[in-house]
Amino acid sequence: MNFTLSEDQQMMVDAARRTSRGRIEPILARHPADKPLPKAAMLEIYALLAELGITAPRLPVEAGGGGFSLLDYGLMLEQLPPVVALSLASHEGSIARIRSGGSPELLARYLPDLIAGRKIACTANSEAGAGSDSGAVTAKLRIEGEWAYLTGRKMWITNASVADVINVSCTVGKDEQGRPIVRRILVDRSQCDFEVREIAVTGLQQGHLSELVFEDTRIPASHVIGEPGDAAKTLTVGWNGNRPLLGLMCVHLAQKGLDLALEHARSRQQFGKALAAHQLVQQDLADIETAVVASRLMCYHALDCVDRGLRANGSSAMAKRFATQACERALHTAMQVLGGMGISAEMGVERMWRDARMIQVPDGTNGILALIQARELTGTSAFR
Ligand SMILES: Cc1cc2nc3c(=O)[nH]c(=O)nc-3n(C[C@H](O)[C@H](O)[C@H](O)COP(=O)(O)OP(=O)(O)OC[C@H]3O[C@@H](n4cnc5c(N)ncnc54)[C@H](O)[C@@H]3O)c2cc1C
Repeated sequence: MNFTLSEDQQMMVDAARRTSRGRIEPILARHPADKPLPKAAMLEIYALLAELGITAPRLPVEAGGGGFSLLDYGLMLEQLPPVVALSLASHEGSIARIRSGGSPELLARYLPDLIAGRKIACTANSEAGAGSDSGAVTAKLRIEGEWAYLTGRKMWITNASVADVINVSCTVGKDEQGRPIVRRILVDRSQCDFEVREIAVTGLQQGHLSELVFEDTRIPASHVIGEPGDAAKTLTVGWNGNRPLLGLMCVHLAQKGLDLALEHARSRQQFGKALAAHQLVQQDLADIETAVVASRLMCYHALDCVDRGLRANGSSAMAKRFATQACERALHTAMQVLGGMGISAEMGVERMWRDARMIQVPDGTNGILALIQARELTGTSAFR
């Protein structure tokens, strides 16, 4: 066991950090902090992500991807602003899902632009009635010869308002138990007519979270991906990798909170000495650092389990739940150390705290993640 980054990993981290601080953060700073970024800004960012080779990190190099292990990808993703990292996770996860079951013609047509960051992808599974119960989708797909027709609503879809292609889960009927038979179809925004509405949310406000409305939307039947019923499996495979990545987005935020709180505690004097010299402030700082380090290690461990092909449902659920909760708490504590500055928009820690709160919902709420972990522990499912 070795807890030190290899030379290659250090180079990846340095490159991602340089790009993030020197080139991505200035793009975010040019735009209002509380409004979704324009598509042009997103494409500027995606060109930089493509330069880093992380628009399709899980695809092998022969398929045009980065060929990275999930751990190496996670080390780089941790350096990115979470609003960008979440968009990237949706984009690259969608590429992996499209590749799993997309016809050679479909892949040849869409993957090059997606990998180059000239186009953006997303995955639309959730609906008003299908959230944690992700298989309960009701959006209907009717296939008639060369065309398919999609009707239904999707909720909370990352990237949807800026996406060029959307991997949509929909049902083509029911199985013997009355559960929907779920299929996937690739919707190309330039070819189809449907509505996209941005949803106003608490955090990650420069990002895009939308509702989609399809009403008998006509799509080429050749855009159907994979086999009937394979949607749940492709989602679960993606989630096991994604959950620790979402945890690392919170680690990014909590590390920043720690840096700001530490700087403030060293420079601000109260009762004749630096805040950092007061015992309870020291305890707050120690608590924040403990949350950052423990969360980071747990997320790296879960990614390593996935890379090694070990069963990772429990460890990846545990990593996301622990990291998102511990880091949100750490940011709350950092705000306390910063006093009035902690709640000021100027300092930005309150925004980071709201961003961390958002990350507790996608790819499994913390309640659902506890159930997934406990299912591994006990061998009994409490879901149904
Ligand atoms: C920032 C963000 C990005 C997202 N991106 C996407 C995306 O790109 N694509 C997509 O398809 N979806 C996306 N989602 C949707 C997300 O996956 C769902 O919001 C999530 O699965 C929860 O579903 P829900 O909101 O319907 O809550 P519900 O499922 O209604 O859950 C509400 C509460 O009930 C609890 N609960 C539910 N079932 C049980 C149970 N059996 N036992 C105990 N407690 C239970 C949950 O833990 C939660 O606390 C995103 C959401 C957010 C916030």
